[in-house]
Amino acid sequence: MTDDFRVRYAPSPTGYLHIGNARTALFNWLFARHYNGTFVIRIEDTDAARNIADGEKSQLDNLKWLGLDWDESPENPGEYGPYRQSERNEQGIYQPYIDDLLKRGLAYKSYKTSEQLKSEREAQQAAKQAPHYVYEYEGMSQEEREAEYAKYEAQGLKPVVRIRVPEDKMYEWDDIVKGHISIGGKEVGGDWVIQKADGMPTYNFAVVVDDHLMKISHVLRGDDHVSNTPKQMMVYDAFGWDIPKFGHMALIINAATGKKLSKRDNDVLQFVEQYRELGYQPEALDNFIGLLGWSPKGEDEIFSLEEFKNMFDETRLSKANAKFDQKKLEWINNQWIRRDKDKIMPQLIEELVKAGFITEDEAKAKHDWLVQAIDVAGVDGISYTRQIVDLMREPFFQLGDITDEMKEYLTSENGRKVFAAWEEAYKALPEDADADTYMKTIRAIQNNLEIKGRELWNPIRIATTHQIQGPNLPELLVLLDKKQVLKTMDDVKAKYLA
Ligand code: GLU
Repeated sequence: MTDDFRVRYAPSPTGYLHIGNARTALFNWLFARHYNGTFVIRIEDTDAARNIADGEKSQLDNLKWLGLDWDESPENPGEYGPYRQSERNEQGIYQPYIDDLLKRGLAYKSYKTSEQLKSEREAQQAAKQAPHYVYEYEGMSQEEREAEYAKYEAQGLKPVVRIRVPEDKMYEWDDIVKGHISIGGKEVGGDWVIQKADGMPTYNFAVVVDDHLMKISHVLRGDDHVSNTPKQMMVYDAFGWDIPKFGHMALIINAATGKKLSKRDNDVLQFVEQYRELGYQPEALDNFIGLLGWSPKGEDEIFSLEEFKNMFDETRLSKANAKFDQKKLEWINNQWIRRDKDKIMPQLIEELVKAGFITEDEAKAKHDWLVQAIDVAGVDGISYTRQIVDLMREPFFQLGDITDEMKEYLTSENGRKVFAAWEEAYKALPEDADADTYMKTIRAIQNNLEIKGRELWNPIRIATTHQIQGPNLPELLVLLDKKQVLKTMDDVKAKYLA
């Protein structure tokens, strides 16, 4: 039975892959893969004016980057193609269905101009009525209506096609996520357009024809489509088709404001591409998105796509709003970075090359050193790979300025003593001294001078790295070039301690 499950992700290529859309795609994928069903990608590109040139490609590239795959799509069509609505329209797939509704009087051609529609709306507003479409052929027979069409056509007017809304009907369904929902036919705003004047079907019409012809069994989509569902159900009814099961996933809200996540929320990155550029791991995004409106049993929060697939259970999709919390995403990404260092290492090195700290050839030659330096710099604390650039800049690739606070540590009485003792000891140590040796050397200075804590560590750190805080100093000294450190110390001495 489960082999018959067919679900789809149906993006409109009007923009890049938004987190909300990625969630829809991910859950449809999980649903299909968990139940051994089929996952279809259909491109809903009938709104030509809103499409962007690389919208489709970029969305699909990003879905692939997230690790999703699909069984049927424009690139790998199955038997229900084409998989782009614009091409389906060119092939004349929708027209016979529109003609059929027209013939049966369930739809009609409307020639009202936008000015007419506007003044109707204004009149409704003035009369304090909810905006609704006013049917212009009330009481007419099919023949009388067609005679009217002919008159308008003679005036050169182009029609839209509207469906006759059964206003007295209740549209009810058991939503996979939200439970029982019922919306009255009266609430959809009156007869709505199924075909635009340019011949393109509208979304609410084409989606039904396509879901039916593509034998889609379950429609999992965002909460914003709940109000479209009664419109779509009336199209299914008009053709006598079986209605798929609907599930509308929880609204995503901005955790910082508690309001619906909006593309205008500048404090939250919302496109998968943006996270990808910063060096977030696809596993981390899947992990985060997989918990947006869905929760597993138990307390664990780190899951791979494979684990999500195995655990998937549509009854655990949540009714409550899903919180988009960027801090949580950072935490999850950090967990994934720690989990597989070998995988992340080439990405971190690439960031350092991109930042101009090191050439690709140098990076190859110094690979082992880089791996250690990245570790000592504190890779375990980063949230995304781009952060390695700031973490490694000083002292591995550049020296920072000596601040007034640093000057004070160096030039205080204790600072001068520590510097002198450290200079002597450091010069005497072999070039390949290990961290333990450096530690013992510094402890010996502590004992001899009876200076400890910041008064001891800061002058040494500042004189060798120009930093007041930084990675574990003995481990860092192992990785720094001795000649370079000696030069840094000489410069510090000449400038501040002469
Ligand atoms: N093209 C629609 C969208 O991007 C698809 C909605 C649906 O899944 O029915 O929102």
